[in-house]
Amino acid sequence: MPKNTSKPWNGDMIKMDIRVRKIYEALFALEDLRELFRQALPAGLDEHEEAQFSSEIARLETIVQELKEGKGNPIKHIGAGLELRTREEEFININPIQAGGRLTPEARKALIAYGDGYSVCDQCLVGRLDKIRKPPVEEFHAELADFVGMDEVRVVPGARRGFQAVTASLIEKGDLVIVSDLAHYTEFLAVEIAGGVIKEVPSGSNHIVTGDAVAETIERAKEETGKLPKLVMIEHVDYSFGNVHDVEGVGKVAKDYDIPFLYNGAYAVGMMPVNGKNIGADFVVGSGHKGMASVAPSGILATTDEWAPKVFRSSQIVGDVTGRRFENKEPAMLGCTLMGGTVLSMMASFPHVKERVKRWDAEVKKSNYFVREFLRIEGNKISSECPRKHTLSKVDTRDSFDRIAKTHKRRGYFLSDELKRKGIVGEFAGSTRVWKLNTYGLSWDRIKYLSETFIEIAGKYELPVKRK
Ligand SMILES: *Cc1c(COP(=O)(O)O)cnc(C)c1O
Repeated sequence: MPKNTSKPWNGDMIKMDIRVRKIYEALFALEDLRELFRQALPAGLDEHEEAQFSSEIARLETIVQELKEGKGNPIKHIGAGLELRTREEEFININPIQAGGRLTPEARKALIAYGDGYSVCDQCLVGRLDKIRKPPVEEFHAELADFVGMDEVRVVPGARRGFQAVTASLIEKGDLVIVSDLAHYTEFLAVEIAGGVIKEVPSGSNHIVTGDAVAETIERAKEETGKLPKLVMIEHVDYSFGNVHDVEGVGKVAKDYDIPFLYNGAYAVGMMPVNGKNIGADFVVGSGHKGMASVAPSGILATTDEWAPKVFRSSQIVGDVTGRRFENKEPAMLGCTLMGGTVLSMMASFPHVKERVKRWDAEVKKSNYFVREFLRIEGNKISSECPRKHTLSKVDTRDSFDRIAKTHKRRGYFLSDELKRKGIVGEFAGSTRVWKLNTYGLSWDRIKYLSETFIEIAGKYELPVKRK
């Protein structure tokens, strides 16, 4: 390994800062120090442990010295054969699904402090996660319900488990469920596991789901089967185009037909302002790891006072021999849900998340700036609605970068190579046709750098670029 270099980069690849890896090394050294106290007797370290402490401190000091000077060997592994993950530190990450789930520093600290298994259960008095006061999980639930404009909320292991809790409570075998033709696969699976039948709403050529289209689909379902659907489940923002759908319109139609409406806010809750009651939603589902800067798997299921007794009903089951009952447990939740680092990360990010949704307009502005610059490259197209109303966008580069890919020896990977060389990752590797990216949370500096990089790559391969 050559000394004083972070990595033997080739060509014009940008040089990574060794300090990122030194920070990891220092964090790990601190964890090793911490472990000493986890093994020692409560009264303190014995002689042998003190010696270990001193040698660990010396190691840490060396690392800090290297960190200051920006030199030394870069570590690559955590241990157990696991590699470091440095893409958020060393790169601009445009991965479509990862942007809203990037942790805040507070969430990362919560994970350090509450990473142990059932860490949230230290002072559980009544056997209910949402009633724990220390840490303030109960208070968090109250604020969370308020945050999405609903009456009651539970944390769940991902948006999908929110869908499942609702379908398990409302859908019986053969019942119809309305979803859109852009619905996420987890909506389908949640219906499948409950024995329901899917009826898809066509989003049309502009890929926007409207209240009218939902009404037409309900009518069609009624004609075909003679019965009304039992649930309408529509996403505010779909995963494919990142288009913003008319959920208020859907809410009205659902109300007119008296069918409960599950608002899927996987790409919305925690990123943009969401008020379930104003939308006319009976259920609001959000994803912690998609949109709330939280550890996976995490999410929320919120509802109204009307529906809470149904989905958050108490267990009724009785053991035939022991006569045991679990009336304080909620079967649709399978009792407690997020018992450690997951819920603590949600709580730790929450103050930031509450503030960041107020800055959604700025995120949309950056998204549109990027799109405008991206469209200067001739042949580039945006498949999503324009102007953009979200930061997740589907782009079509079949008439630009894919033309280069056809004759390039690296084929579609040439674009990934070029992007990575400039410190950009997260595009679908090898794809130069139709792919997705997400600009959420990128600073203006990063947005401009990202835009310039695409234009630079276009220039390198002599793709025409329109003047500003
Ligand atoms: C990501 C996504 C989901 C699944 O969310 P999880 O929290 O991972 O279960 C559901 N619906 C849509 C529209 C999504 O984009």
